[in-house]
Amino acid sequence: MPPPVAATVADLRLGVAQARHRGMTVGLVPTMGALHAGHESLIAAARRETGFVVVSIFVNPTQFGPHEDLSRYPRPLDNDLALCTRAGADLVFLPAVDEVYPSGSCTWVVVEGPLASTLEGTSRPGHFRGVATVVLKLLNMVGPDVAYFGQKDAQQVRLVSQMVRDLNVPVTIRICPTVREPDGLALSSRNVYLTPEQRKNAVALHAALQQAQALVAAGERDAARVETAMKEIIARTPGAVLDYAAVVDNETMQSVSIIEREVLAVIAVRFGSTRLIDNLTITP
Ligand code: AMP
Repeated sequence: MPPPVAATVADLRLGVAQARHRGMTVGLVPTMGALHAGHESLIAAARRETGFVVVSIFVNPTQFGPHEDLSRYPRPLDNDLALCTRAGADLVFLPAVDEVYPSGSCTWVVVEGPLASTLEGTSRPGHFRGVATVVLKLLNMVGPDVAYFGQKDAQQVRLVSQMVRDLNVPVTIRICPTVREPDGLALSSRNVYLTPEQRKNAVALHAALQQAQALVAAGERDAARVETAMKEIIARTPGAVLDYAAVVDNETMQSVSIIEREVLAVIAVRFGSTRLIDNLTITP
């Protein structure tokens, strides 16, 4: 049986209140739809760990820049509802834009400082303001015990965790591992934009991250040399344009110079107008 779909905050809250009344804990999986096995793994984790699983599907306009892909972002609703059914969601929250941002909305959540201004924060000005605002709104609308995020968007989940700490939001943030295609490409709703040729070459992101891991495993501790090796792989990939490739601290997302403990290799690459990101935790 497909789960009920709530289009309004009032209906959402009613569904959650009924579950609470039955003594259930509540899990939230926030998504922008175009669901794939990565999202499915988040829903499965919520299914295992909480009694009532809410999946939100909302293409949040405020996290897209003026020249980004908001208007063409995929919205395969029937497939999404089928996946939610298969994965065992108990309620799907599918609001219209003006349900989330009624006219006159003028309050924003801004995470300041280096965590929000580096990497994605540099490449996508305003992106994290949109993310933090919509995530706090969703947490306030649902009131979950646990919210599930993917390691695929490593900086996003660090930022959300920081916001939850800073604003005393009563929720546990759970981070789920990145789900990949057999060739290593991280699943992403944006992969459908890739031409067959770009799709083949997009494996370069994972190849670069693996090369970083291999170098560190072989004893390399100089982050700059690891970054150079990652950049070289992208440079010799047809159609790939590097945005960034870096070795950063897992928590602060700031560049490290010497790799002394667990770090994150992060990468962002464009193929035509499609921008892909990925990351890998590396332990020396
Ligand atoms: P999105 O719909 O792209 O906004 O993603 C919704 C959630 O799914 C975010 O927490 C993402 O980090 C997570 N996610 C996206 N892709 C993957 C993946 N390949 N593996 C695991 N989680 C993912």
